[in-house]
Amino acid sequence: YQAEAEQRPWARYSAEFDMPHRRAFALLRAIPASLANGEFRLVYQPKLNLHTARISGVEALARWRHPQFGEVSPAEFIDLMERTTLIHDFTEWVLHKALEQLSIWRARGLDLTIAVNVSSRNLEHPMFLHMLRNACALHGVHPKSLRLECTENAVMTGTRTATTLAAVRAMDICISLDDFGVGYSNLSCLHSLPVEILKLDQSLIKPIANDERAFTLIQSLISMGHALGYQMLAEGVETAEVLDLLKHHGCDAAQGYYISRPLEADAIPEFLKASRGPHVDGMP
Ligand code: C2E
Ligand code: MG
Ligand code: MG
Ligand code: MG
Repeated sequence: YQAEAEQRPWARYSAEFDMPHRRAFALLRAIPASLANGEFRLVYQPKLNLHTARISGVEALARWRHPQFGEVSPAEFIDLMERTTLIHDFTEWVLHKALEQLSIWRARGLDLTIAVNVSSRNLEHPMFLHMLRNACALHGVHPKSLRLECTENAVMTGTRTATTLAAVRAMDICISLDDFGVGYSNLSCLHSLPVEILKLDQSLIKPIANDERAFTLIQSLISMGHALGYQMLAEGVETAEVLDLLKHHGCDAAQGYYISRPLEADAIPEFLKASRGPHVDGMP
C-alpha cells in the first residue's frame, strides 16, 4: 500500500479521504443488530426545579457501546441515523424504553416526568403521533408525564412539522425547545410555536458567572421567555455560582453536571432519595 501510495499519491489521499465515510457506513450497518442485541441503552439526567428545589424529572439520553467500535457518542450516531430512516425505529425504541422505565419508577412511588429527544425527521413521519399514543398507552403513562425535546431548527421547518407539534400539544404532551439560542433563532416564529419550555443552550449558560455580558444576555432571555409565557430551563450548569445566578434571576429549572451527570436507571431512586432528604434544602 505504501509503495502504491508513493507511486500514485492520489491513491493514498483518496483512501484517507474515504475513512470517515467508511466508519459512517460501518456504524450504520451495525445499528440494527445493536438495537436487537441491547447494545444501546438510556441514561437519565435529573432536572432540578428551582422553585421547589426538587428533582422534577429526567431527560433520557442514548448511549451506544459497540463490541468493536467501543463507546460511540450520540452526536455521531444520531447524526448518522438522521440521514436514514433508522431514526424512526430508533426514536420508537427510545420512547418505549423511556416510558417503560418511567412506569417502573412510578410503581416504586417516584413522581417524575421524562423527556425524550426527537429529531426533525421524526416529526415529519406520518405515523409519529400514532407511535406516541401507542407508547403511552402500552406503558400506562399519562402523556402529561412525557416531554419531547426538539431543537430549534427542527420545529421551524415546514408546515407538516407545525401541524404535528400542535397535535402533540393537543395530546397533552409538553414540548421543549432544545438548544435554544444557538440554532437559527427565528424570533418571528417563536411566539406562535406550541412550545412550553425553552431550554437555554449550555454554551449560553456556562460563561454567565465570569462574563457580565453573557449574564445580561441570559437575564434578558429569561425575562423575554417569561413575558411570552414560556418556562425557562437552563442546561449545562456546572458550578454552584451558575446555579445561584439562575435561581436568583427567575430561571425555572436547571440541568447540568453540578446537579447530576446522566445516571444509569438503577441509580435514579437513590439519587432522588438523597436529594429529597431534609438536610439538602436548596440542593444539591
Ligand atoms: P441535548 O439533548 O442538548 O443533551 C444535552 C447534552 O449535554 C448531553 O450530551 C448531556 O450529557 C450533556 N450535558 C448535560 N449536562 C452537562 C454539563 O453540565 N456540562 C456538559 N459539558 N455537558 C452536559 P449527550 O448525552 O452526549 O447527547 C448529545 C446530544 O445527542 C443531545 O443533546 C441530543 O441532541 C442528542 N441525543 C442524545 N440522546 C438522544 C436520543 O435518544 N434521541 C435523539 N434524537 N437525540 C439524542
Ligand atoms: Mg435534550
Ligand atoms: Mg440541549
Ligand atoms: Mg445539544
